[in-house]
Amino acid sequence: MLQQIDLLIILHDLDLMFKEYSEKDFSEKAMGFRIKHLEELKQARKEIEEQIDPELYQRYERLNEKYGRPIAPVINGICYGCFIRMPTSIATQSDRNIKIITCENCGRFLYWVT
Ligand SMILES: [Zn+2]
Repeated sequence: MLQQIDLLIILHDLDLMFKEYSEKDFSEKAMGFRIKHLEELKQARKEIEEQIDPELYQRYERLNEKYGRPIAPVINGICYGCFIRMPTSIATQSDRNIKIITCENCGRFLYWVT
């Protein structure tokens, strides 16, 4: 089963794809594909959204509006959303990619790379 943080990352990917497909210039010939893909993306997004805790989803939407990038990786203990070093108490948690953790400084959802 996917963790909530995985679902949030997927949701954000879909949002970026949606944005790309909405903004890209398409030729007449490609228009049909574009509309089809937008529909598919909408459907996929709905499926992901339904698996996310409603409270988390609301937070995601708020952060997305505020930053445009609501999720940030943590590499070597640093939040790559705001470049602040995480307190060691947070960074050493063994369940850090299972539990939802947000940056104390910028509020973004965090996932640990290293
Ligand atoms: Zn941060």
